[in-house]
Amino acid sequence: MQMNPARLYARVLAGDPDDNGRFFFGVTTTGIYCLPSCKARKPRPENTRFFPTAEAARASGLRPCKKCHPDDFARGADPVLESIEQLVAEIRAAPANFPDARAVVRRSGFGPTRLFELLRQHFHSTPADLLLRARLARAREQLLTTDVPLADLAHDAGFRSLSVFHEHFRVTHGLTPLACRELRAADTFEVALPAGYPLAHLKRALGRDPLSLTERLDGDVYSTAVRLGPRQTPAVLRLHLAPERIHVSITTAAVANSPSPAPVAHAVVVGLLGLDQDAAGFARLARKLGFARLVAGREQLRIVQTPSVFDGLLWAIIGQQINLPFAFRLRRRLTELVSPPLADGLHAPPSPAAVAALSPDDLRPLQFSRAKAVTLIETARLVASGQLDLDALRAKSATRAERTLLALRGLGPWSVNYVMMRSLGFADCLPLGDTGVISGLRTLLDLETKPDRDAVRRLMEVFSPHRSLATAHLWQLNQPAPPSVESAFEVHASTKPPQTPSAAP
Ligand SMILES: [Zn+2]
Repeated sequence: MQMNPARLYARVLAGDPDDNGRFFFGVTTTGIYCLPSCKARKPRPENTRFFPTAEAARASGLRPCKKCHPDDFARGADPVLESIEQLVAEIRAAPANFPDARAVVRRSGFGPTRLFELLRQHFHSTPADLLLRARLARAREQLLTTDVPLADLAHDAGFRSLSVFHEHFRVTHGLTPLACRELRAADTFEVALPAGYPLAHLKRALGRDPLSLTERLDGDVYSTAVRLGPRQTPAVLRLHLAPERIHVSITTAAVANSPSPAPVAHAVVVGLLGLDQDAAGFARLARKLGFARLVAGREQLRIVQTPSVFDGLLWAIIGQQINLPFAFRLRRRLTELVSPPLADGLHAPPSPAAVAALSPDDLRPLQFSRAKAVTLIETARLVASGQLDLDALRAKSATRAERTLLALRGLGPWSVNYVMMRSLGFADCLPLGDTGVISGLRTLLDLETKPDRDAVRRLMEVFSPHRSLATAHLWQLNQPAPPSVESAFEVHASTKPPQTPSAAP
């Protein structure tokens, strides 16, 4: 980075964490040096010096700031993040050890305000929400792997009463605990939708890709080919979409004595419908902020999750820097090349192993740019070889998941946040540079000019920790109401600007 003092001083005022590592700044009056994102009081320009590295700052006699820990950052160490990750791991391993959010605060060693801020920043969550999700995950696992009676199982997960357990489980999983247990021997199941679920928006999102070989929307029937379980067995899920209940049937190559695919299929359907997203929480926040219009007519809107993280990653790479119709064509050609058809003419989604086995010369005739082909294949090789465990990213902190994805060659901040929102289910993502978000904000706030990146970041701050859902609603704001042929994601992706330089492969 050019050490242009005026420009760098503007970056210090912006306090953008994306600048961390690009430069360090020192304050001559206090004798300390900081990360660009430091929250301490901003120095005056005449007292500010800039350094390319932490070593350079130390060499000029400055000490590391105790607030932003630039030396830890430069070393790659992050002790505060590590202690938060450790705390969350303890909660998930034994949620019953934490009777309530106060117990989480006590165990953390941080004050309540600081802990709230750290969990919001690193896990996009609150102590109470993390605790509830850990209890539900524990209970689901026990339901599917043991015959422990419901009351004992609820108690083991830390629920205060069976009815509280029952209610939360039903809302986030779309079925009762007993129906969940029955998934072990099922090949069909039903999922209940919450009142007011905007089915028309869901159908628009599911039917957005007319060229897709892996999914098809035909009236009220949505079929999608997926890969299920540790063996990635191809299967077709067929969803009968109705206002209150979704009926799901599973077709898979039957293997004698193999466990039922229904529990994994159910998890995919919960993600697809976004049942575990806090739509009501976001709608309450929007109304409280005076933005009732942002959620009007779609308070229960969810972000459709891709069937696998690899699907989302493929999609983000293919869709980078090209318009949407062309992206649909590329995806179709890739699927045709690496995935044979299953039942009904649907193809299984491309597997990491099959994409990893390609060479860029296989993709060039399909009109993939060389850079895009290389990024796709290199990423697939990391996944196929086990060096990149995409499913493990769901359990990590958002900060760690973001860093892991940003480190992949050819993936920039927009694509990374897109994958985090649409495939990893993180609640507080902001795809900076997204034109759908920018035009949505202009409409919502009656802005006369286009907000720049720092303005977008500042304006979106009020929606934290729900910025993913805020993004989904902003995408809808300049759309006609469904049903229509276009989807929000479609317009959003086709008008997206060139990626930031780091994303340009
Ligand atoms: Zn500092």
